[in-house]
Amino acid sequence: MVTIDRVLIANRGEIARRIATALIEKEIIPVLPVTEKEWQQAVPVFKDCRMVKAPDSIYLDSEALVALAQAENCQAVHPGYGFLAENAEFAGACETNGLIFIGPPARAMDLMGHKERAREIAKKADVSPVPGFSIDGLNELEIKERAESIGFPVLVKASLGGGGKGMRRVESPEGLLDAIRMSKSESSAYFGSDEVFVEKYILKPRHIEIQIFSFPGGRTVYVGERECTIQRRHQKIIEESPSPVVDEKLRRKMGEAAVRIADIVGYVGAGTVEFIVDEELNFYFLEMNTRIQVEHPVTEEVFGVDLVAWQIEEALGIVEAIPQQKLKGAGHAMEFRIYAEDPAQGFMPSPGKILRYVEPAGPGIRVESAVAEGSEIFADFDPMIAKVVVKGHSREHAMERARFALENFVILGITTNREFLMQILSHPAFQAGELDTGFIDRYRDELKNAVDASIEPEILLLAASLRNPTGKVAQGSVSVDENGYYPPVTTRIP
Ligand code: ADP
Ligand code: ADP
Ligand code: MG
Repeated sequence: MVTIDRVLIANRGEIARRIATALIEKEIIPVLPVTEKEWQQAVPVFKDCRMVKAPDSIYLDSEALVALAQAENCQAVHPGYGFLAENAEFAGACETNGLIFIGPPARAMDLMGHKERAREIAKKADVSPVPGFSIDGLNELEIKERAESIGFPVLVKASLGGGGKGMRRVESPEGLLDAIRMSKSESSAYFGSDEVFVEKYILKPRHIEIQIFSFPGGRTVYVGERECTIQRRHQKIIEESPSPVVDEKLRRKMGEAAVRIADIVGYVGAGTVEFIVDEELNFYFLEMNTRIQVEHPVTEEVFGVDLVAWQIEEALGIVEAIPQQKLKGAGHAMEFRIYAEDPAQGFMPSPGKILRYVEPAGPGIRVESAVAEGSEIFADFDPMIAKVVVKGHSREHAMERARFALENFVILGITTNREFLMQILSHPAFQAGELDTGFIDRYRDELKNAVDASIEPEILLLAASLRNPTGKVAQGSVSVDENGYYPPVTTRIP
């Protein structure tokens, strides 16, 4: 057993809040860096934490984070997701400086952090990656031949890519070499490495991933799957568990594949093995995320577990290994990511000040967020505002609760994707569970028209009655007049 009474959270936003709550439950003090411009709005949200003022660059500054953890007498660091969460050097730097990194060993992160290397590891674990090949040592003709043999379209991917970035679809051999050249230069710019590789583009695929947890002594379990097929820009916006297409047999096959991959790299703690699933329900290894995932609550709701608490208990040396057969899911959970972005403008981020904010509540509703009325969503960070997680006894029941929750989520002052998510939820194909990653593109017109026409008079009335405390013009869909008041409702209804 280890003594831990202070943990540095090397993150911000909703995941920092999620981790802080799990720490406080264990009587551990969360210490978190907060930037000058977020300080004021962080105070009410993190009032039960030790907040430390830090420069804007802090979340990507490994050295400064280690120094902060030491100065604050922390014994451990939780990286959350994004930022340095999958950075093996940061994990190594923590370990070298006597800090427990709440995540897998740096070596496992390093092995899985490189997509091409991870594909080789999957093969060793007897799991098929998506058909593809390395371009290393191949001449131009050979590259084209290899691509033709796996079949077009193909996807050129950055080995160190992430967050849906660094991928380029190529339809035919003619465009391949140019695409590789462009991907290489983009990858150097974004990920500091020009390594790219080629994968077959799986048509009409689903993204289905397995949550794993490796308890000490190499006892790895799988905690069901998450269907994360509803995506825009290769990034998830709705996730659910169980998947409408995964039965017990497939779950076991995918789960055991994920466990073999984790075991082969000596994994510890929470991780996710992502698969792409084709129309015949063949599954292929995509990548492994060596961290807590954005959508982890979906799994927690279905399996009645606390993954973040397990991570902390693992660091403390007190986690109790759960045998696979005890992990039984019940009911159905869904997560909706609420972003400050405009679906009608290509999902462009729409930062600004939240003037009115009321989270939904009720049976089977869980909201993860770190904002409040008056909070500003800054352009510098990922524009996710909140996650609405619902649980029901069936998929239909979960969808009913989701509708209620999304309808009753009031966020005024900025443009969000809330109504867009509601439109997806109402779509017959979504309701029937007929999903593939092209869903949003395919139904774009239906979804877009519906959103554009859905300015709700009640909401505008409410908005009109509110005074903007700053008196400044709000950025976003509804703007205030020079007195800080919303314009009269009549002028806003088309
Ligand atoms: P998840 O895989 O947990 O669903 P996302 O792909 O939505 O997560 O990414 C979670 C967060 O991490 C986002 O803020 C995303 O921008 C960021 N992120 C993930 N990978 C990278 C990366 N390689 N480089 C930069 N940001 C990343
Ligand atoms: P990231 O590290 O950015 O999360 P992934 O490899 O996990 O990258 O891919 C992100 C998304 O891109 C997937 O969920 C899927 O929608 C799409 N994608 C990736 N590879 C393929 C592929 N070979 N065929 C079809 N779609 C793919
Ligand atoms: Mg991924």
